[in-house]
Amino acid sequence: ETSSPLERRTGRPVFLTTTRAMEILKKRIQQEGKCHPGGVLKVDSFINHQIDASLMMEIAKEFAKRFEDTKIDKVITIEASGIAPAIMVASLLGVPMLFAKKKVPSTMNGILKSEVFSFTKSRSYNVCISDKFLRKGEKCLFIDDFLANGCALQGLISIVESAGATVAGLGIAIEKGFQIGGRVIRNLG
Ligand code: 5GP
Repeated sequence: ETSSPLERRTGRPVFLTTTRAMEILKKRIQQEGKCHPGGVLKVDSFINHQIDASLMMEIAKEFAKRFEDTKIDKVITIEASGIAPAIMVASLLGVPMLFAKKKVPSTMNGILKSEVFSFTKSRSYNVCISDKFLRKGEKCLFIDDFLANGCALQGLISIVESAGATVAGLGIAIEKGFQIGGRVIRNLG
């Protein structure tokens, strides 16, 4: 029996190479990242505007590896920059990806929403998900590009919980350790 838990679950070959995604990411941040006032890190040449798809895939593989033995029903994120890593992780895990929208579509019924304060934009906005895609008892894996103060994540946790689902895991490409998000979220258990 040589197949991995992921291969057994998805029924197809999944190649999770042993990479050092974190070290590669760290080097790229040191080489290309720009620090902006207020603690904003600009990484738009490879993470969230132009995207280095190969690097993002290596990051996604790291997350998939960590969650291959955990029951995950879907991957969730917030548009726009969370979509790239989230969709790659979802594809590797063989589950759907669901992203919270920042504008309520006129055709959406059964809206689950939450207010999120954007640290980079210094304003609040609502994020929403249709209740038809989040069911009671579902286990969600939250994936995002950044963790700063944790507001986006907390907003999504509250949406997930209002549907009777749970956030079973988190995968964040860049955690800014000097902001409080990581501590707040780890204290939630
Ligand atoms: P939080 O809600 O944790 O304060 O912030 C998370 C969200 O804000 C992420 O989804 C990301 O889009 C954005 N964000 C937070 N900090 C940074 C940053 O330093 N650089 C960039 N480019 N985006 C950030």
